[in-house]
Amino acid sequence: MPGGGSFGSFLVWNGLISKGLQMQIKVYSTLTRQKEDFQTFQPGKVGMYVCGPTVYKPSHVGHMVGPVIFDTIKRFLSYLDYQVNFVVNITDVDDKLIVESKKQNTTVTELAERVTADYLSNLKKLQVTGIDHFPRATHYIGEILSMINGLIEKGFAYASNGDVYFDVSKDDDYGKLCNRDPEQLEAGARIEVNDRKRNAGDFALWKGAKPGEPMWDSPWGPGRPGWHIECSAMSMKLLGESFDMHGGGLDLQFPHHENELAQSESYSGKTFARYWLHNGLMKTGDKKMSKSEGNEIVVTELLKKHQPETLRYLLLSSHYRSPIEYSEDRLLELRRTLDSFYRFFDRVKRICGKSFYDVSTPLKFVPAPKGHSAFMGEIYKLRDAFLDAFADDFNSGGALGTLHEFLTTLNRFADQAKLETAEGNPGAKGEFLSAVTVLREITQILGLFIEPQESAGPQGNNQLMDGVMRLLIDIRADARKSKNFPLADLVRKRLAELNITLEDRPDETGWRVGP
Ligand SMILES: [Zn+2]
Repeated sequence: MPGGGSFGSFLVWNGLISKGLQMQIKVYSTLTRQKEDFQTFQPGKVGMYVCGPTVYKPSHVGHMVGPVIFDTIKRFLSYLDYQVNFVVNITDVDDKLIVESKKQNTTVTELAERVTADYLSNLKKLQVTGIDHFPRATHYIGEILSMINGLIEKGFAYASNGDVYFDVSKDDDYGKLCNRDPEQLEAGARIEVNDRKRNAGDFALWKGAKPGEPMWDSPWGPGRPGWHIECSAMSMKLLGESFDMHGGGLDLQFPHHENELAQSESYSGKTFARYWLHNGLMKTGDKKMSKSEGNEIVVTELLKKHQPETLRYLLLSSHYRSPIEYSEDRLLELRRTLDSFYRFFDRVKRICGKSFYDVSTPLKFVPAPKGHSAFMGEIYKLRDAFLDAFADDFNSGGALGTLHEFLTTLNRFADQAKLETAEGNPGAKGEFLSAVTVLREITQILGLFIEPQESAGPQGNNQLMDGVMRLLIDIRADARKSKNFPLADLVRKRLAELNITLEDRPDETGWRVGP
């Protein structure tokens, strides 16, 4: 039985191995409001589009949620041998950019380039490396114009006094993403009222230019594209008229995604995106993190206090559709969790003589070899559990849970086989390294522990903890020397009750949080 995994996993892996196909993934789509079997338009290929930022202000933490989540989804799909084409757009012309550039006494182009550079540098720090294209709206004006033209020709759009609007009354499906009829949608949203529109819910595809604004020539006069049409034109150009996954924050569901869907399917007559994935938004306390609440956190500011890995870990710690609870305390708590991994990596170095970061393994699923040991059986079972969690609608929070079990299992093995003492035999060390390699393989899916973090972060707490632990270890060593074994045992026992394990090595005693 490959992998020595559970029976359920066996069926999946058996299919994977015999047919060379991917394991069955379940994905919840906002469009159907249910979990569906993941099937791609083209076998083995995935087109994925996620709405990116309007680049008028430096990135805040909320801008990182979608990229981190979908980068992780891409890593998982690539691991299962899919070829993923991942697009995140940059909205570089918009009312907000026009207003902000005037305020800063600069051009829209200069502001957009500066803010885009900040965005890209933050993504890099967070190990978001899987995005294949960052199309900028202003580079796709030709595609936007021809799509608007097509919509007018098909009777779905009309020009009105320099603007062009999509006529929602012509689209029978309008409202299907949010599962509401157009009148309800209008009542629930702030809809721009103007007398150029036929219906209150019609939205602009093209906006006639006002003096001093960026503009392009068009059959309807000089102007600039509306926001929604940019995403349709860029995604179709880069991924085709039908693609597999469309993602974005929950706040984009209406009107942005409803409108994107309506105009795209009216234009092509085909399914636009098969699965619509909406990620939860950041929350602080019971408040949404947003500009209007004034509680947004700028990424570069956050990264002065916390290492990027802690932020990535936070964004993956719950299911992507749930809200993400943000607080300073939560970041500190997660940092302590990460520290237990970093301490384990020190242990790997001591035992294997090489850094965890130098353990190389491809981001590809390989079935467990036949005839493995009972210990490796446990490891492959944990890998199955990790992948099963991820295959169930990309449950990264559940997958992170199995990562902790990995740590416990590996530490226990190192203790029992006395790998840090002269008694540790080379065979057991080799097995330990094989297990560490599996851990490395799955942490790559999460984009965690890719490279050592610079020592950014709240060091104060850790130094204090280290100091106190050093003191207790010295007291225990003194007690043993003077043959006061009850005291030595008491120190170990009381620490164990606090979930701290002492690691006796030939030359010193170390410690870790966890069994
Ligand atoms: Zn979009």
